[in-house]
Amino acid sequence: MRIHITYTGGTIGMVDSPHGLVPGADLEGWLSTLLGENATGQDLGREDVTLTALEPLIDSSNATPESWQLIVDDLRARATGPNPPDAFIILHGTDTMAYTSAALSYALTDLTQPVIVTGSQLPLGVVGSDAAPNVTGALRAAVSGRINGVTLFFGHRLLAGNRATKTSAWAFRGFDSPSVAPLALTGAPWQWSAPLACAHGWEGTALPYTRHDVAVIDLVPGITAARLKAMVTPEPEVVILRAFGVGNVPSDEPGLTDVVAGLIEAEVAVVVTSQCHQAEVVLGHYETGDAIARAGAVGSRDMTLEAVYAKVQFLLAQGLRGAELAAWIERSIAGELTESRD
Ligand code: ASP
Repeated sequence: MRIHITYTGGTIGMVDSPHGLVPGADLEGWLSTLLGENATGQDLGREDVTLTALEPLIDSSNATPESWQLIVDDLRARATGPNPPDAFIILHGTDTMAYTSAALSYALTDLTQPVIVTGSQLPLGVVGSDAAPNVTGALRAAVSGRINGVTLFFGHRLLAGNRATKTSAWAFRGFDSPSVAPLALTGAPWQWSAPLACAHGWEGTALPYTRHDVAVIDLVPGITAARLKAMVTPEPEVVILRAFGVGNVPSDEPGLTDVVAGLIEAEVAVVVTSQCHQAEVVLGHYETGDAIARAGAVGSRDMTLEAVYAKVQFLLAQGLRGAELAAWIERSIAGELTESRD
């Protein structure tokens, strides 16, 4: 079994500097010690694991869709090069890890090797850091032979990569997948749940990610049509509206629905998502969601914001716009949503 680790940046490999944490830890040396201790509990030696770093290493708050593409290109080159590994691990900053893992899941539906994304809340050199348990957990998941697609390992849990969200800036259990159960919990032995029925709707190779203008807007009680209009001027390519509950938008506010209708007429897809961690946004449950559904907005079902945002960037990169793009929102590309609960 051969595993390749690509280090992209993030706290895990950072060290102190006069201006705060920056990349610079001796990841190679640390990994050798970790594998020397047989920390995975498997027959995995240092010679079975290769490690490279992307240039430049970044704090994941600086990630863009172009950064996602750098990872996609790196994995594809290794998967098709000589001696391809059996699995990939991506070391990544936690701040936007869930965006990246969702983005990778859409772009790599045809990759045969599993990809596990992980990182840590504390740098690897800090006593009590979560770096070692997270990396050893990712390695164990990689050698398990039980996963495919893109997953995210963090805080003793393996989550579907396009269902995860960062829920804490400090807790070692920093991620959750609010709408689906974890794929595995660590322990002796690990507890595995049945794999998600993951419909892969996207056929063929994906065009590369580029940066598109997508506005994510939170509704608040009392928002006016003038404020919403100002927030979508000039018009972005897609608007993601974070609404209330199951996708409710104030329907008594004069002109608010007209702003949404105007966007759709201008071929700007409007995707309605929820401010609730757990929700199934299917517009039309209430009169307040029905008005914008009739205007042509589409609900995000049970996707996380990260999954929706990366999906919209993916669809824009494939050249889709307006109604054609909106039609893909409720369809699964890589298991990022539950298409139907019956
Ligand atoms: N700011 C860091 C990053 O996302 C946080 C972390 O890795 O935990 O790169």
